[in-house]
Amino acid sequence: MLCTKLDTSNVKIIGDYYLVENDLIIDKKTIYAAINKSRANNNTPHTEQYATDVTGVLAWNNTANIKYFIDPAMNNITGGADWISAINTATQDWTNIPNCAVTFQPVSSASQANIVFYPDNSPAIPACGFISNPIVYASSKFPVNDGIGDFISINADGPPTTFDGKITVMRHEIGHTLGMRHSNMYSTGEPVNGTGMCGQQVFGGNLLHGTIPDDPTSIMNTPYAGVNIINFDAGDTLAVLQMYPDNIQPTFFFKTIIEPANPDPRRDRPNVKKLCLRVDPKNNFWYRVLVDRLDNAGNILQHSSILPPRFSNLIGVGWSTQFIQVIEINTVVNSANTSIYRIGFQNYRGDLVISFPPTTVNW
Ligand SMILES: [Zn+2]
Repeated sequence: MLCTKLDTSNVKIIGDYYLVENDLIIDKKTIYAAINKSRANNNTPHTEQYATDVTGVLAWNNTANIKYFIDPAMNNITGGADWISAINTATQDWTNIPNCAVTFQPVSSASQANIVFYPDNSPAIPACGFISNPIVYASSKFPVNDGIGDFISINADGPPTTFDGKITVMRHEIGHTLGMRHSNMYSTGEPVNGTGMCGQQVFGGNLLHGTIPDDPTSIMNTPYAGVNIINFDAGDTLAVLQMYPDNIQPTFFFKTIIEPANPDPRRDRPNVKKLCLRVDPKNNFWYRVLVDRLDNAGNILQHSSILPPRFSNLIGVGWSTQFIQVIEINTVVNSANTSIYRIGFQNYRGDLVISFPPTTVNW
């Protein structure tokens, strides 16, 4: 046998049940490498939210009006009516996150839907959606072809859950279909790259900025005992807004700082003049900040960002809510400098971009 089930020995169990990542199947070599890496990194603080690689999340254009369908076979399983209600509640909860581009709407057939919720014993579900592990509530696809994961499978003979538990499980599984990994994936030793439900290849566990270590209150935390309601916490909101903000409306300004002859030696060079960029994103979203320095003819002298061809190399790029970033230094304090900068901002995937016209800065 080439594959083995995900080793859950590092997963803490709360009560009798827990979630594992999408019933993840992974070869031993990969998982042990991942666990060893996790152990090696035990002293490294890991932060709360992770996303699959940028090619594995939704294109921003696919985030609005995501069409979902609930397979009628949901009515035939234990607690089916509650599951249906929980699905409708959870999709609405995602829709209601303020300033987020993700919205859901129900449709009346699977053929119209971007994502279908099936019981795992439904005649209509792809065979690979069957959940053999009795302690798994549900399993989900990660994003498919720049769109949402195309189905969620609910274990018809899975562990018992309260109604609140069903809502929480659905919020969590929808998070996976939007490209979110477990918030504590590193501390539990989950493989970064692996094979998910239906043989789907999953890549990446990338930090989403502004979140806190592991965060047990995250909707994307695991394990879960299936009882209490878990709401989106601050880290969840920061994460999803980094990926799928409804728009990007930052303000920014330039600021000149002159360091004295005896500045803080840990941080500053003496007797230099710095041109800084201060950014204030709307609603404390975190954006990738792009900085291009231009010559008088508009040619790029130095670039930033990940999007060729206009932005290619890096000079000043960062993620921020509010920060002051040094973008140019002159060692002559009393110099009079003129620089031309073009500033832009991106979401996580880099497919929602705002670029401001070049600005001449005298500093
Ligand atoms: Zn999960």
